[in-house]
Amino acid sequence: MSKLKTLDDLLEHQLKDLYSAEKQLIEALPKMAKNTEDAKLKQAFENHLAETQEQKARLEKVCEILGISPGRMKCKAMEGLVEEGEEAIDEEATPEVKDASLIAAAQRIEHYEIAGYGTAAHYAERLGHTEAAALLRQTLEEEQKTDTLLNKLAKGYINAKAE
Ligand code: FE
Ligand code: FE
Ligand code: FE
Repeated sequence: MSKLKTLDDLLEHQLKDLYSAEKQLIEALPKMAKNTEDAKLKQAFENHLAETQEQKARLEKVCEILGISPGRMKCKAMEGLVEEGEEAIDEEATPEVKDASLIAAAQRIEHYEIAGYGTAAHYAERLGHTEAAALLRQTLEEEQKTDTLLNKLAKGYINAKAE
């Protein structure tokens, strides 16, 4: 018998995955911030760490609204993405190339979250969970803004310094 029978079940599954992803990022972002000497990139990672902590709390609120538990699922994709971030940190590279590499890893992470929150917000809207949907959209916007900021840093000067 299948466990997932409805879109509501799938939304719950997706929220648990996102919750695991945010928890893993709370561990990973401080390491990324520590491993860049670029003040703007460091600040971007630190700001996003604070946002990520709020996003985790926001997911707890979404789950509370929906009467579900955020659970103990492991997001395997985030595990892999964080591992790649750690590879970027451990690479023998000049600081300039390392910064470009950190951004490349971080943008992969943000894109994964954007896909996840976009899907979850859409499911919540379809299912009439208006308040939950608004909270998920709020996080989606933060992930998009972070991606845009990382893009600006990379294209603005970080990639050029790595040449
Ligand atoms: Fe996030
Ligand atoms: Fe996942
Ligand atoms: Fe994020």
